[in-house]
Amino acid sequence: MKEKIDLLGAGLIGSLLAIYLKKRGLDVSIYEKRKDWRQVNATGEGRSINMALSYRGWKALEKAGIKDKVLPHIQPMHGRRIHDEHGNTYFQPYGKENQAIYSISRNSFNKILLDEAEALGANLHFEHKVERVNVGDREVTFSLADGATKSIQTEVLIGSDGAYSSLRNAFQSQLRFNFNQQYISHGYKELSIPPTPEGEFAMDPNALHIWPRGKFMLIALPNQDKSFTCTLFLPFEGYKVSFENIHDDQDILQIFKTHFNDAQALMPTLIRDFNSNPTSALINTECYPWTENNTLLIGDAAHAMVPFYGQGMNCGFEDCFILDGLLEKYGTFSWDLVFQKFQKGRKPDTDAICQLAMDNFVEMSDNVADPKFLIRKKIEARLYELYPKEWVPLYSMVTFSDMKYSEAYTIGKIQEKVMDQVMSDPLITQNWDRLDYEDILHKVEVAGAV
Ligand SMILES: Cc1cc2nc3c(=O)[nH]c(=O)nc-3n(C[C@H](O)[C@H](O)[C@H](O)COP(=O)(O)OP(=O)(O)OC[C@H]3O[C@@H](n4cnc5c(N)ncnc54)[C@H](O)[C@@H]3O)c2cc1C
Repeated sequence: MKEKIDLLGAGLIGSLLAIYLKKRGLDVSIYEKRKDWRQVNATGEGRSINMALSYRGWKALEKAGIKDKVLPHIQPMHGRRIHDEHGNTYFQPYGKENQAIYSISRNSFNKILLDEAEALGANLHFEHKVERVNVGDREVTFSLADGATKSIQTEVLIGSDGAYSSLRNAFQSQLRFNFNQQYISHGYKELSIPPTPEGEFAMDPNALHIWPRGKFMLIALPNQDKSFTCTLFLPFEGYKVSFENIHDDQDILQIFKTHFNDAQALMPTLIRDFNSNPTSALINTECYPWTENNTLLIGDAAHAMVPFYGQGMNCGFEDCFILDGLLEKYGTFSWDLVFQKFQKGRKPDTDAICQLAMDNFVEMSDNVADPKFLIRKKIEARLYELYPKEWVPLYSMVTFSDMKYSEAYTIGKIQEKVMDQVMSDPLITQNWDRLDYEDILHKVEVAGAV
């Protein structure tokens, strides 16, 4: 008889994990609170509707044998296109010439993964909202669409039910469970830029567009239908430009005219989008342990991060890749061992990427527009060009490699210290391309990052 395993949540991570587990020959069931959105034209319930997929995500998709099905749905972005307040734009490549991150619609991506899990034989149970989990008895109680409740007893249970995980809630009543959550000062709202009347992209289709304005920013990612999905990040309160100070359509127009004039010209549905889309909060959660009595937290349920490194989903996919590697090594009959190894090995890395995601908000909203920051990036790019093995920029280590996040974090800190020294030269803006680059590398070597 096939071994049974139950997953809570059919989001991106639960769906990919189901594929991996089916391929290991298990009897997989997924319980999801939403309706089957693959039949209706759902919009993702106010969540970001396109995502940036990068190397770690691709690697996990490839191992699951699903990469080829995803490829036709992506739009490459080779760098950031910065929009200043006067409507000028500047392109900053993300990495080397052929390196890119890939924009993909959250809904179609989730559908591809879930269709594949179903085709492999996973049992999908929609409109099953987890109400309660008893970790000791491994009993899960659901409420169903008709108001009835239903309970199941499980052998092995994985919570892939996102940042507000019900399994994690149940862990909170366990002894010595640590949990930290932090809402940041900013929230976000989704807006859109449609294709031009000629049916073309209204802006450069191969970039992630950013309008950095210090305490707030707008970003836009291209979609395959030649539209862009924009996300406006604003503080909830405490600043002149904040959600609390937007009372009517005039306020919306005023902010856009003053700060995002070139974008506004391309947003005929701005007012409607602003008023009809929810204002959502951004949360960082960290917890430990992730496992108890043959149950496990994975993806956002274990580590929800703010979206400023574009890694939440990629990191969750990497979780699946690593868990599958452990199942390959230890088999599917020693779940406790596999789950223990998984949490021990993975926790330092998810802590590191949660921290990096927090730190990157400052870089995206403020620094990218600072001329000194641009010089700093040029110096780092030159170092990467001259010493491609010895100096890999932090962004590249996170986005274009599968180096452990914790290792990338440590190396990044050393690089940052050395670059702070380099940038402290008052003449750096004139001298940056005449620097002794070998000496900079030597400093990094001395500090132990190479
Ligand atoms: C604005 C924004 C932009 C982002 N951009 C990126 C990006 O560009 N790149 C990137 O890598 N990451 C990005 N992320 C992060 C990414 O969205 C998450 O890391 C990813 O969706 C996590 O997937 P998950 O399956 O763990 O959780 P979720 O996607 O939240 O899925 C959880 C699933 O569980 C279900 N569920 C929840 N509660 C219950 C319950 N009680 N009972 C039953 N089912 C339940 C939900 O309906 C859902 O289907 C972004 C996040 C935000 C907020």
